[in-house]
Amino acid sequence: MIPFQLAEPASFAEAVRLIDPEDPTCRAVSGGTAMMLMMKSGVFQPSKLVSLRKVEPEYAAFTVSSDGALQAGALVRLGQLERSEAVRAAFPVLADTFPVLSNVRVRNVATVGGNLAHADPHMDLPPVLMALGAHITATGPSGSRTIALTELFRGYYETALEPGELISGLSVPAQAGRRSAYVKCTTRSAHDWPALGVAVSLAVTGGTIQDARIVLSAAVETPTRMTDAEAALKGAPIGEEAFRAAGEAAAKAAEVTSDVRGSAPYKTQLVRVNVVRALRKALAAEGAV
Ligand SMILES: Cc1cc2nc3c(=O)[nH]c(=O)nc-3n(C[C@H](O)[C@H](O)[C@H](O)COP(=O)(O)OP(=O)(O)OC[C@H]3O[C@@H](n4cnc5c(N)ncnc54)[C@H](O)[C@@H]3O)c2cc1C
Repeated sequence: MIPFQLAEPASFAEAVRLIDPEDPTCRAVSGGTAMMLMMKSGVFQPSKLVSLRKVEPEYAAFTVSSDGALQAGALVRLGQLERSEAVRAAFPVLADTFPVLSNVRVRNVATVGGNLAHADPHMDLPPVLMALGAHITATGPSGSRTIALTELFRGYYETALEPGELISGLSVPAQAGRRSAYVKCTTRSAHDWPALGVAVSLAVTGGTIQDARIVLSAAVETPTRMTDAEAALKGAPIGEEAFRAAGEAAAKAAEVTSDVRGSAPYKTQLVRVNVVRALRKALAAEGAV
């Protein structure tokens, strides 16, 4: 491995100061699970890594408010959220997603901030958090700002973070009765990277879908909301006809890519089928099968 500097600041503000915005090889490291793979494979060679592990403990803490909103520091481990009863109660879809996200060793080390900054389109959490209406706090030399997850992912391993900005926290709003589901479609083992991810979140009253969010990942270059499919559901009665219309609309609009997990036509068919499955899963309690 090529030598590099390692800084271990005791505060988040100091970490921000230590990142050189002019030097793309000077980067933060949190859990290190993705960083180490990139370094070992030679994809990324840092001049300096700024470890966030020793910053103030509040960045490794989270709360779920009485109405069910989540506030998490960037250093919260995925495993912490996975084991929280409060997170499970407020966001059953997150509890459902963690067990299929890699393995327990990775989840016990990987952090919220590292997960979202990595911006690999195959990752499981970004589409789910996007469907839940989450946003992050980005902190840089000139202060903090919030970025909706719908605005964060700009391309393959690319985010809207400015050079020198770090993710300092995550907020997920209370779901107020919305129904959500995630379907991870792998073409090899269940814990493998998905060929397609579909996350949905729906507001329903009296058997009618009032509002829908549908996010595709993995088969597309960046997690993407399928607005045509969402429009096909708005005001529709819960049922197969609406679900199939949404699946067709998503398959028509999705800009699907080919890779080792399948050709674009194959993945387009996965979209058509798995949007329907995700909608059925989210609305099973409302009588959808
Ligand atoms: C064996 C293996 C299997 C995996 N399988 C899956 C899977 O099935 N599904 C899935 O979703 N994921 C999977 N992953 C990916 C895993 O989710 C990520 O590696 C992990 O979430 C990254 O978090 P981290 O804290 O370790 O990030 P790090 O490795 O520390 O950092 C990742 C990137 O984010 C940057 N960064 C870190 N923290 C911050 C911050 N606070 N602000 C700004 N930038 C930051 C780093 O500079 C780096 O570019 C797998 C990983 C491994 C190693």
